[in-house]
Amino acid sequence: GERLLDVKNLVTSFRTADGTLQAVRDVSFHVDKGETLCIVGESGCGKSITSLSVMRLLPSNGSIESGEILLNGEPLQNLSNEQMRKIRGNRLSMIFQEPMTALNPVLTIGYQLREPLMLHHKVSKAEASKQGIELLRQVGIPNPEKRLNQYPHELSGGMRQRVMIAMALSCHPSLLIADEPTTALDVTIQAQILDLIKDLKEKLNMGVLMITHDMGVVAEVADRVMVMYAGKKIEEGPVEEIFTNPSHPYTLGLLHSVPNVDDPEFELEPIPGNMPGLNEQISGCRFHPRCKFAMDKCKVTEPPNFKVSNGHSAMCWLNEKEAEKDESSGRVTV
Ligand code: SF4
Ligand code: MG
Repeated sequence: GERLLDVKNLVTSFRTADGTLQAVRDVSFHVDKGETLCIVGESGCGKSITSLSVMRLLPSNGSIESGEILLNGEPLQNLSNEQMRKIRGNRLSMIFQEPMTALNPVLTIGYQLREPLMLHHKVSKAEASKQGIELLRQVGIPNPEKRLNQYPHELSGGMRQRVMIAMALSCHPSLLIADEPTTALDVTIQAQILDLIKDLKEKLNMGVLMITHDMGVVAEVADRVMVMYAGKKIEEGPVEEIFTNPSHPYTLGLLHSVPNVDDPEFELEPIPGNMPGLNEQISGCRFHPRCKFAMDKCKVTEPPNFKVSNGHSAMCWLNEKEAEKDESSGRVTV
């Protein structure tokens, strides 16, 4: 597919009482047109900060220290705040976990749908209402005409998330960023919303960047997966590869911390310990204090990214031998 988003060597840091701390450490990835990249990891791994860096919506003590963010080949970090606001209203859209915080409780759904349409597309109120109804229909909301006059609290959680998606789509984004969009919803509604996002991606040929902690969500929507741990990309690959040949113990741990309904023999095995805080110094591989495969060198030297197969790489010493074999058979080690 055509390259939509290119993030190169992103470093994002926060000024805190403990000094400047890095939340995203030299992370590179891309999203093509018509594909979904899932960024997965436990809370605190840097996945949300990565997406907020792309949107340039970091909290005020956060900033991009270095790296490049390109949208359709155009570097975003040189744009003024005003130009960036335009891009957010047009080519980039974001949906969040809790639509209640993103929707204004005192304004009707209709008002909130019309506003951006009238502002960005310079259409009349009547035309904006018409387009609003069409958008609500597109995201599967029944009786859309009636919904325009309702307030957010009159809708269920699932319906509110659909309204949020309708609002995000109103600007015809080429890239939709979704940060845990279904975490607050019950399982049935979650599946419906994920289906909707998948459908819309295909129909509109959008790129989707999905942030989640849930391997079940990854299995449902991802084309490719990037696993983050303690601010770093530790594994990346096509979704089938990540599920059938996970090559970093942390990825394996994530896979074993969700129940597998298809496999009765499957044993749940949560990852012991916690994600290190931003201010924690850890030598060598940052996962070694939690890793049951840790070797002596893991505690001393941080592993590079080893190529596992085409488009699949993992930052773990366990892949070193494989990678060497690859080299002797003429393949390149990354
Ligand atoms: Fe575990 Fe070592 Fe691999 Fe790190 S490099 S994940 S400690 S085996
Ligand atoms: Mg988050």
